[in-house]
Amino acid sequence: MLLRAEIISIGDELTSGQRLDTNSKWISEKLGDLGIKTAFHTTVGDAMPDNIDVFQKAARRADLVIASGGLGPTADDLTREAIALAFNLPLEIRQEALDHIESLFALRKRPMPERNRSQAMFPEGSRMIENPHGTAPGIDLIVTSPHTLDGRTSRIFSLPGVPAEMMQMFSDTIQPRLIEEMGVGGQRWFYHSIKVFGIGESELEKKLPDLIHRDRDPIVGITVSKATITLRIAALCSDEAEFQSKIGPTIQQIQEQLGWLIFAEGEIDIDGATQAWLTDRGTRLGVIEIGSGAWIQKYLADLSSQGWTGLQVGRWFPSLEHLSESVPADFLAVLEEPIPSDETTKQLSNAAEHLRQQLDLDLCLAAGVYPTHQAVISSKSLPTSDFTFVLARRGKAVKHTTVSLGAHPDVLYHRLAKTGLNFLRLELLQHG
Ligand code: ATP
Repeated sequence: MLLRAEIISIGDELTSGQRLDTNSKWISEKLGDLGIKTAFHTTVGDAMPDNIDVFQKAARRADLVIASGGLGPTADDLTREAIALAFNLPLEIRQEALDHIESLFALRKRPMPERNRSQAMFPEGSRMIENPHGTAPGIDLIVTSPHTLDGRTSRIFSLPGVPAEMMQMFSDTIQPRLIEEMGVGGQRWFYHSIKVFGIGESELEKKLPDLIHRDRDPIVGITVSKATITLRIAALCSDEAEFQSKIGPTIQQIQEQLGWLIFAEGEIDIDGATQAWLTDRGTRLGVIEIGSGAWIQKYLADLSSQGWTGLQVGRWFPSLEHLSESVPADFLAVLEEPIPSDETTKQLSNAAEHLRQQLDLDLCLAAGVYPTHQAVISSKSLPTSDFTFVLARRGKAVKHTTVSLGAHPDVLYHRLAKTGLNFLRLELLQHG
């Protein structure tokens, strides 16, 4: 049976936004490695009725509940009491826990404050989870009907919020108990990513109508980051070999449908894929970028030690005089022409071919004219601009393309740089 988990994070510092909830992310990943799907992340502040409500709901809808936070000795630490009240269980002192807390204070040569006794209180019928480095032991409790649905059980683990303590207790105690007592761990989630550029999300979904369904096995999900689309294939399998054979037909179907739109498989973006491609072949690439920023050059920064040359040209560029020695004089006229035109394309082409020859490059990619950041930010509607990309190649005719790009200001320059790199990739793919 597939277990459904809920993760509860407790604390006003989380709900107020003062502290980021990193425990849920960590626990979800660990559960995924054990083949357990996390269905809910719940974050709750330090209020008793809310905590009771959250624990009751979680027990009803999840087979496994892992909570963190609120196990300290202070008045705002409510988790023990909340669990006891939620499931009508009395709290009882656990001698083993008290001995542990007292021994920690003895080590620190301090008397144990009376309020730390509360950390040795456990809901009746629960087990203790040792906390070797802290005073807050965890709670392991199995609850049954009427608190759960259909008479099934829900297992609740409650851990301290301190991330290091929580992680150690999960690894030392919870994980072994899940494997030995709940029979999990035979399978885990495996993932494979296919990277796509040059198409919108909804257009992509239209091309893969039968693949994006949550109840499909393997599951295919779509995410977008800085204009790159990732198709994430996920399946619950025993090992890598089973996963590979299970996803084979899905990958084939995606490749057939998307063809050249796919630029890589795995955790790599188009800049990394381009760098790997150029490095493998020992290709010398030059980049000329005109206008605000050197976005393609930033993307390819790791190549600079390997025979790559970048050149940024702008009206405000301090060494324009110096640069003008290596580019044709009429090229600088492009700077006066922010809207792409035949003349801009011609000048960009001349500059790219000129630089390629002069520096003995295999390829020279030229892009322009980038708008200033100020212009992008201040545009009232979605900033849209036309960009021209030109590619000069040793022994081939110069190619160019002009595209209209629009995106949120935070994404526009990334989309622009990636479009330039994709133009380079497609030219090489189609024309060798
Ligand atoms: P303690 O014994 O330290 O009081 P506790 O169980 O009461 O432990 P909290 O007081 O809720 O835990 O949190 C202790 C520390 O751990 C705080 O610094 C808190 O910000 C951090 N913390 C708590 N929950 C999380 C979480 N979900 N993600 C990241 N950090 C957390």
